[in-house]
Amino acid sequence: MSKYWSELTASLVPYVPGEQPKDKQYIKLNTNENPYPPSPKVIAAIQDATNDDLRLYPDPTCDKLRETLAHYYGLSKEHIFVGNGSDEILAFAFPAFFSASKPILFPDVTYTFYPVYAKLYGLNYEMIPTDDQFNIEAGHYCKPNGGIIIPNPNAPTAKFIVLDSLVQILNHNQDQVVIVDEAYIDFGGQSAVSLISEYPNLLVVQTLSKSRSLAGLRVGMAMGHPDLIDGLNRIKNSFNSYTLDRLAIAGAIAAIEDQSYFEMTNRKIIETRDRTTESLKQLGYQVIESKANFLFVSHPQQSAEVIFNELKLRGILVRYFNKPRIDQYLRISIGTDEEMDTLVAVLRELQN
Ligand code: PMP
Repeated sequence: MSKYWSELTASLVPYVPGEQPKDKQYIKLNTNENPYPPSPKVIAAIQDATNDDLRLYPDPTCDKLRETLAHYYGLSKEHIFVGNGSDEILAFAFPAFFSASKPILFPDVTYTFYPVYAKLYGLNYEMIPTDDQFNIEAGHYCKPNGGIIIPNPNAPTAKFIVLDSLVQILNHNQDQVVIVDEAYIDFGGQSAVSLISEYPNLLVVQTLSKSRSLAGLRVGMAMGHPDLIDGLNRIKNSFNSYTLDRLAIAGAIAAIEDQSYFEMTNRKIIETRDRTTESLKQLGYQVIESKANFLFVSHPQQSAEVIFNELKLRGILVRYFNKPRIDQYLRISIGTDEEMDTLVAVLRELQN
């Protein structure tokens, strides 16, 4: 341990993101990025914003972007918060809303950033078991807790939860904040944004990283009752009041406004996902029904770790988690049709 570290630093086990290779060209299906470029209107807006105004601080309240999002979601800007990716919003939300005295609840197989945030802020948590198909059972979230976070669809399992189940959870937990992490919602799930007017304890978090092809721009948004948005602002302004930069604000507005490009690329990803699902099933893979831009698959006779290594050797990067319960699964992001055809062909070859 470094002699300069605090006890907190020494005790942290940080989140490890998927590999971002710098040397070799892979077919990159390991971090759920969008295979299509951002809308040309986004690039134009960022180029346009690359001007002398960069010497000025950006708008700390990101009003124009929040107004654009409010219009898109049918809310008012007081219901909207924006941050540097949804990861940053979650990092603000944990200390803003979750209690240290009772455990936070989240599924046992889920986004591994949640326990990292909980530990960072000294919060207890309880991982609620999913069933053998990774289904999330709403009834298990109806017990005393210090807050709840559920991704919909879940990562890495791709399992989605229907709104009725979320309503059951919200009704049973009216004194706690329930965060629904909708990073992958645009690929076919049912968003909980429609429940915001009824549930002041609901915070919905989304991102431009996946369905808007902007993982590199780092823009996320949270929607909820203005009291929740105030809570997030208090934490944000205690760290850095200027979270989004001028280029990110300009690009994000253009992305939200280009609805037809968004619909076109999403439709393509969904078609490719469903087609790849069928091809993998024909190769004997078990594929969990996905409403995300990735598949969670296992093969009854083949080791996931071996497949992962063999694919990597052949220039295809997918995600393998060396963790209990999911060490027989691979998470495969949906790429272009061509990339997925290559993946399927290589997997077929590996079986011969
Ligand atoms: N939530 C979930 C469930 C995710 O998988 C991710 C992406 N790794 C995020 C949030 C964060 O996305 P971003 O910070 O790029 O918005």
